[in-house]
Formats: sequence, structure tokens, C-alpha cells
Amino acid sequence: MDMSIESQVAAAGEAPSGNCAWSESTSSVERVATAKLPTETGEFLIAGYRSLISDEEFVVLYKGQMEPEVPTLVRIHSQCLTGDVFGSIKCDCGPQLHKAMELIEKAGRGAIVYQQQEGRGIGIINKIRAYSLQDEGADTVEANEKLGFAVDARTYKQCAEILSDLGLCQVRVISNNPDKLRALEEAGLQIVERIPLEIKAEKAAAHYLKTKKEKLGHLIDF
Ligand SMILES: [Zn+2]
Repeated sequence: MDMSIESQVAAAGEAPSGNCAWSESTSSVERVATAKLPTETGEFLIAGYRSLISDEEFVVLYKGQMEPEVPTLVRIHSQCLTGDVFGSIKCDCGPQLHKAMELIEKAGRGAIVYQQQEGRGIGIINKIRAYSLQDEGADTVEANEKLGFAVDARTYKQCAEILSDLGLCQVRVISNNPDKLRALEEAGLQIVERIPLEIKAEKAAAHYLKTKKEKLGHLIDF
């Protein structure tokens, strides 16, 4: 069944069906608004969610009908101002985001939860401080440690709750990050496939990606 963008907007907010282990009653997020978002990649819907237990806000970009029994492309994308907006080649975030949008556009359905946890959760200012240490030779993990932060301060439970709230259950996850896969499973979503995101590494990102693979366990092939 095909739904127009209009009827999808109208349907947004309806309770999900399906038999995912995760139940709506335990949700710690709420949807605040949904709207159409035409992009260079295609027509999407955008929804804003807020956390009921913190100040955190989330955005989800999605398209097509969200059905629990239909394996659907999903991605949890962590905000990277430098990569997503400025086209930084220190990391692979921007190309990953756009590749995920293209895959979803091609498939005709899918969802990207945009998690506003910049710099693996340390915030943009601290990320710039970490970059400054990296200019002096530290790698991405050492820089966070020198600044006294956890190597990775992110959690993904609420992102998984948003995907459930959209009505999804069986998911094809676009990710190289085992922590994100684990979080989706723990939240009761059924992972039917992992779609690796292999972005051709720019020279500046090669060392960063190597560190992500070796120190953070990301599933990247070189
Ligand atoms: Zn990045």
C-alpha cells in the first residue's frame, strides 16, 4: 500500500502495531511535530522528538510506510557539525549521512534518527579542543582521554525507542558501530541485516577511521 506524504503526516503519531519486545508504555521520548522535508536526495518527512527524562532533542528523517513486519533501512546518525555541515574530511560522517539518505531514497522507505550528541557526546566545544590535541599528534581516542572524557559518551536507547515509535520492528541497520547494533537489539528491535557503510577514506580521515576500527571496534574494512 502506498501512502501519500500527506496521509503519512496524518498517520504520524498512531500507535505502532507488531510484536516487538519493546513496549510503548516504557517510552522515554515523545514526538512533538512532523512535517514534510523535500531534500536534494528526495522527499522525506522530518519529525522532532524530545526526551522525557533529559533536555535532549532528536530528529528523525524518514520516508515510506513504517511497518513492523517489513524489514526497513534504519540508521542512528550521531551529529557531527564539522562533517555533516562543513564537509570536514577529518571523519566520514557527512558522506555516511548522505549515503544513508540515498539508500533510503532508493529503497523508498527507511528512517535516520539524528542524535544530537556531537563529538561522541562531549559537545562541539570539547570536540574542537580534542581536534586541537589531534593537531599535536593525539588520535581521536587519546584526545578524549586527555580531556578527561569517556572515549564514547553516547547512549542509543532513546534512538531505538524512536524507531519503535515510528512503528518499526524488523530493521536493516546501516551502521559500522557494534554499540548501535547492540542498543537496537536491547530495545527489542529485530535486526535482520546490517548494511555496512564503506566510505572511501580521504587521506585526512584514514588515521581516524583506523583508530575507530582498532580502538572502538567499528566494523570497517580497509
Ligand atoms: Zn564526524
